Amino acid sequence: MQKIKKFKKMNNRMSKRLATILSILREHTKAMGKPMVFQITNQFGRDPFLVLISCLLSLRTRDTVTGPICIKLFEIAKTPQQILEIPVTKLEKMIYPVGFYRRKARLLHTVSADLIERFKSKVPETEEELLSIKGVGRKTANLVLAEGFGIPALCVDTHVHRVSNRLGIVKTKTPEQTEIELKTIIPKNDWIHINRWLVVWGQEICVPISPFCSRCPLRPVCPRVGVKKSR
Ligand code: SF4
Repeated sequence: MQKIKKFKKMNNRMSKRLATILSILREHTKAMGKPMVFQITNQFGRDPFLVLISCLLSLRTRDTVTGPICIKLFEIAKTPQQILEIPVTKLEKMIYPVGFYRRKARLLHTVSADLIERFKSKVPETEEELLSIKGVGRKTANLVLAEGFGIPALCVDTHVHRVSNRLGIVKTKTPEQTEIELKTIIPKNDWIHINRWLVVWGQEICVPISPFCSRCPLRPVCPRVGVKKSR
C-alpha cells in the first residue's frame, strides 16, 4: 500500500514537472526560429509532397543548408512528375551541398516514381503506407503525417531525442524508443508541437555539445541528465 502511495506521489510530481516543461516550451518558442519544414509550409502552403521531399533532403544536413535548397527546388518542381523530369545529374547539382546529395538525388527519383506507380502521385496518409516507401523512416513518416496532413503524430529526430533525455522525461537509447515513451506521457494534442518546440530548443539552446544551461528557461525543472559540460 505504501509502495503504491509512493509511486502515485512520484507520478504526480512527474506530471506537474512535465506540465511546467510543456508550458515553458510553448511560451518561449514563440519568439524563437522555426524548423525548416515550417518555412516551407509558410512559403508553399501545407503540401505533404513538399514536406516529404524537404524531410528527405534534410536528413543529416543542417536546416540552414537544406532550407534555401528546398525553396529553389520547389520553385521549379512541386510534384512527383516534375521531380522525375529533372535528370538525376542535374538534380545532384541542384541539391548540392546537402549531405549525401548523390544518394538523395536518386532517392528523390525513386520516391517520386513509387508515388506515381502505387499511390496515383499522391502522398499516402497512413503511417503504414508511408513506411512502405523505400527510404522513408519513422521520423519522415511522422513529420509528413503531422505537418503535411495535420494528423497527430510525434516526430522524433536527434534533437527531440537528446533534449527529452536531458530533461529526464524519458530514459531511452534510440529515437524510436523516445517516440514510444513520449507518446505515453505527452497529451495527444501536443504531439505535433513537441517536434516544433524541441527541434528549435535543440538547435538554439540545448545544443549537442555544451548546451546553454545558464540561459535556459527550463533550467529550474531540468535535471540535465548526462550533461557534463555546459555554458
Ligand atoms: S537546462 Fe541545459 S540540459 Fe536542460 S534543457 Fe536547458 S540547455 Fe538542455
